[in-house]
Amino acid sequence: MPAVIRLIQADDLDAWQRVVLTLCLAPGDRQDADAPVVVVPNRAAAEQWRRTLEERLLIEQWRPPRTLQTALNHDVVPGGPALLLPQLVTRDQLYDIWHRAARLRAPRLLLLTREVVMGASAREAARSQPPPFALRPGLLAEMVRFHDQVERLGGDTARWLDEAAALLADEAASDRGAARLLAQSRFLQAACAAFRERIGAIDGIDEAALRATLLGIDSCWCVPHLIVTVGDHHADPAGLWPVDLDLLGAVPTLSRLDVVATRRQVAEGLFTRLRRQWPDAVEVRIGRLRPSDTRLETTSTEQRWMTCRDREEEVLAYARRIKVLRPVNLSACAFVYRRPLPYLYAARHLLTSAGLPYQSSETVPLAAEPWAAALDLLMDVVLAGFTRAAIVTLLRSPHIAVPMPDGTAMMATDLAAFDRVLARDRYFGSLERFDELTGAWRSGQTAAERRDVPHALLVAEAVRPLLARLASLHHPAPGDEQVGRLRDAWRSCARAPHAADEEVSRTRRTQASVDEVLERLQTAIAAHDRAVVPVRDTFTVIRRWIEDRTLALDRGEHGVHLVDVEAARYGTFDHVWLAGLLEGEWPEPTTRDIFYPSFMLERLGWPDERARAAALRARFADLLTLPARTCGVSVPELDQDAVVRPSALLDELQIFGSDQLLALAIDDLAVPVTREDALLAAAPVPDAPLFDPVSRHWATWRLDRPPRQGIGHTGPAVGERYSVTAVERYLQCPFQYFASRVLALREDAEDEAGLPARDAGLFVHDVLHACFARWHALGQTAIGPDQHARAREVFAEVAEQSLRTLPPTDRPLERVRLFGSSVATGLIEKVLRTEIESFGDVVRRALEHDVDQVVHLPAADGTRAVHLRGRVDRVDWTRDGGLRVIDYKTGRKPQHALQPGVYVHAVIAQERDRGRTATVAPSGFIALREDVPWIQAVTSPEDADAQARSFVEAVDQIEAGAFPVRPANPFRCQFCEYPGVCRKDYVGDE
Ligand code: SF4
Repeated sequence: MPAVIRLIQADDLDAWQRVVLTLCLAPGDRQDADAPVVVVPNRAAAEQWRRTLEERLLIEQWRPPRTLQTALNHDVVPGGPALLLPQLVTRDQLYDIWHRAARLRAPRLLLLTREVVMGASAREAARSQPPPFALRPGLLAEMVRFHDQVERLGGDTARWLDEAAALLADEAASDRGAARLLAQSRFLQAACAAFRERIGAIDGIDEAALRATLLGIDSCWCVPHLIVTVGDHHADPAGLWPVDLDLLGAVPTLSRLDVVATRRQVAEGLFTRLRRQWPDAVEVRIGRLRPSDTRLETTSTEQRWMTCRDREEEVLAYARRIKVLRPVNLSACAFVYRRPLPYLYAARHLLTSAGLPYQSSETVPLAAEPWAAALDLLMDVVLAGFTRAAIVTLLRSPHIAVPMPDGTAMMATDLAAFDRVLARDRYFGSLERFDELTGAWRSGQTAAERRDVPHALLVAEAVRPLLARLASLHHPAPGDEQVGRLRDAWRSCARAPHAADEEVSRTRRTQASVDEVLERLQTAIAAHDRAVVPVRDTFTVIRRWIEDRTLALDRGEHGVHLVDVEAARYGTFDHVWLAGLLEGEWPEPTTRDIFYPSFMLERLGWPDERARAAALRARFADLLTLPARTCGVSVPELDQDAVVRPSALLDELQIFGSDQLLALAIDDLAVPVTREDALLAAAPVPDAPLFDPVSRHWATWRLDRPPRQGIGHTGPAVGERYSVTAVERYLQCPFQYFASRVLALREDAEDEAGLPARDAGLFVHDVLHACFARWHALGQTAIGPDQHARAREVFAEVAEQSLRTLPPTDRPLERVRLFGSSVATGLIEKVLRTEIESFGDVVRRALEHDVDQVVHLPAADGTRAVHLRGRVDRVDWTRDGGLRVIDYKTGRKPQHALQPGVYVHAVIAQERDRGRTATVAPSGFIALREDVPWIQAVTSPEDADAQARSFVEAVDQIEAGAFPVRPANPFRCQFCEYPGVCRKDYVGDE
C-alpha cells in the first residue's frame, strides 16, 4: 500500500517545531512503533533538534494540546508522551541508513573515489573528443557534480547530452559560442560514458545504482514513518531531489510521510511543487500556537539593525547585550550566523574573556585548522618554486619543526636574519640559486649586513634537506607517488603535538583527518588513475578534499548557543541575535553550473534561482520571529579589512510594526564586559575578581599612569630631531607614522622583480649626483642650450659607469629608465631639458646638502625652534642672489609638499650663520614621471612660511601624542605596510 503523504503547513516557526515534536512522540495506539526518521539540513541541525526534544519533552514536560493531536491525526500516549528518539539524518545519511538496512554487499562509493575515476575517464575521452578547455582538477569535480545533478533530477546524462549536441550542431557553423558548447557536449558525452563504464567495474555502489537496487528489494529497508523538515532542491541545497521524491512515493514499507513547512515557505511555492510530484498528498494546516510577541531590538528609529565595526565587534556587542539582559537561562539565547568562521574563533576568545559560557554543535572547515593550514604552507613552498616568502612562512609556522644543525630548535631571530639576507641578496627561488647563494655567503659575498650571515647560513643548512626532498615533486609523476612524497616530506617536518599543548586533542583530530584524506586519495589514485600529472593538479585535488572536510568542535553543554542559520530553526530561544547580515552572505550566492547556460538546463528542472531566493527570504523572515521575546540584528562594516555592504534581506525587518520595536539604551551598548574592557575603562578596578595576578599587576600599573587620552592618543613626548619626510608621512596618516616611528615596527621584506623601489630611487639620485659632480669637475655650472649635446655626452658616460655597478639582471631595465626607449623619454634627457629651460640662472650648486641643526620656523603663534635633520637633494644659488631648493622625485609630484618650504628656511638660516644673505627663489620638485618635471611648490617667502607652519603644527601634534587613524586618502591603505596593526577606525565616519 502506498504511503500516506501529508504536506503540513504550520503558521510560524514555533508551530512548525511543535508539529515536528508531536510527530516524534509515539502514537497512543502503537506503543511498539519504530522511531521515525527526521530529515534535517545538516549535522548541527540534528544536534540542535536533539537538544530541543530533550528540553521540551523531558525537562519542560511539554504535551501537545488535544487540538494539535487531532489536527495531525496523531494521538499520543494518554498517560504522558513516550518519546521515540528519532533518527536525525541529512539527505546523504538517509541513503546511508537505507544502504545499511538493505544489507547490500557492495560498499557505497566515496565521492572522492568517483572524482578520481572521473579524472581517468576525462583524460580517456579527451583523446577522441578534445575538450574546449584545459582539464583542470576543479573541472573534474564540476563534471561529477553535473553528472549527479542530472541523475538526481531524473534525467539521463547521455540522452540529455545527445539532445544538447543535436540542438547545437545546427548553430555551430555560424556561432562560435555554439561551436564551443558542441565540442564540450561531445567531450562530456564521451567522458560520462567512460565514467559509467569504469564505475560499473568497481566493487562499490553509487547513489543512482543504490536507488535502482532499493526499488527492486522487497525487504524492509525503510522505516514506516519519515518526517521531512527540509525543502525541495529548488528551495534548499540540502533538500530532496525529484528522484528522492519518486523513491519515497514508491517505498512499499513506508506508511507515513510527513513534510512540514511554515506558511511563508508554502507561500513561496514549496507545496505547489511537491503536489506536482505527489498529486494525492493530503494538506494539513496548523495555526499559530503561541502569541507573536517577538520584539526587534533597535538602536535608533531610522535603522532597525545594529552596525558594528567588524565581526569581533559583533561578538562583543552580543556579549554586552547578554550581560545587560541577564537572562535566567543562557541556553535560551542564540547567536546565529550564516558562516561559522570567523565567529567561532572570535567567540572562543571574546566570550571566554567576557565570562560568558557558550555551546555549539558546529563544525569548522578542516582547512582552517592551524595544523592543516601548515600542510598547505608546505605545498606552497613547492608550488612557489622555493621562494623566500614561502620558505620563511613555512618555517614560522608553530606546527613545523626543522631543527638547527646542532639539533636545537630554530629561533625566531635566526629565521628573521635568514629572511633579511635572502631579501637583501634578492633570492627569488629555485634550489640551484639557493645553493649558489649559500656558497656565496660562505665566501663572504653578500649585500646583507655581515652580522646576519652566520645565522642565515645555519638556517639554510637546516632547511636544505627538506627542500631537497620537496624538489622531487617538481617533476610530473603519477598522482599517488606525488601524494606519497608529500606525506614523507610532511612527516619529516611536522611538529607532533605535545600532550601538554593546550589544543592537543583538536590538533590530533585534525592530524587524523588530514592523514585519512591523504591516504584515501593515494589509494584511490593508485587504483583508478595512474596518469602522469603535474604536481599542481595533485595539490589542487588535495586542497579541495581538505577544504571539503569539517572538524567538530568541542561542544560545551551549557551557555548561549552559537548556531548556524540552518540549525537555528531547530532550537527554542527567548533571545536571538542574527549576525553578519552582509550582501553575498545572506543569502549566499548560488553555485551555478559552469558548463551550460540556465536556459538550456531549465527543461531538466534545474534548481531555479528565483525559487531559491524566495525560499531564503521566507526562511529569514521565519527566523526573525523564532525567539519568544527579542530579536537583534547586526551588520559589520568591515570584513577582513575590506568595506562591505549590508544584505538586501534587511528589508524583511519591516515585518515588525513600530509597536514591536525595542529601543536599546545607548549606555547599555558600551558596558565593559571583558577583562580588556575593564583594563581599558576610564577607572580600572584592579581588585575586580575577574583579574588574574598578571592582569591585576597590569591594572595597578595602569592606575599610576596619566589618564587615558582616548583612542588614537598617547602621552605627550618631545622628539629630538625631525626629518621632513617623516613629518610628511604623519600628514598622510598619523597612525602610519606611529607604527613606523614610535613603535618602530619593521615592514615586511618584499620580493620585487627588478630593483626594489627604494633601491631604484636611490640609484637614480646617485646617478644624478654623479652627473652633476662630473659637470662641475669640468668647470661648468648652468647648462645652456648650446651645451645640450656636450652635457648629454657627459651624463651618458657617467650613467653608463653607474649602471655597471648594478647586478647584470637589473641593468637593462634601469638603462631604459635612464636613457628612454622609442616610446618614452629617458630621465637624463628630461633632467637636461629642465636644466636648459628653467635653471639657466644657476651660479652655484650644492648636491646632497646636509641639514642637521635647530631652525626657528614660523608657527601659528610666533616662531618655534625645531631640530631638523635631513638631506636636500640640491640647492642652487642664482645669479640675482636667490636660493632655490630642489627635491628629486622618481615618481609623480607629491600632494602635500613641505620639503621645499621647510628646507628653504633651514638653508637660509645656514647662510645667515655664515654671514651671508639670500632671497627665496622659486623652489620645488623635479618629478621625473611627469611630462613637465619641474614643479614649483614655493614661489614666495609666504609660501615657504605656510609650509613651515604646517610642518610645525604637525610636529606639535606628534609631540602631543595625537596619532589618530586618519589617512589623508583611504586609497593609501591599499599600499600600507601596517594593515595588520591598523583597525582602520575611520571606516564608518564618512
Ligand atoms: S591602513 Fe590606512 S589608516 Fe591604517 S595606518 Fe595604513 S594608511 Fe593609515
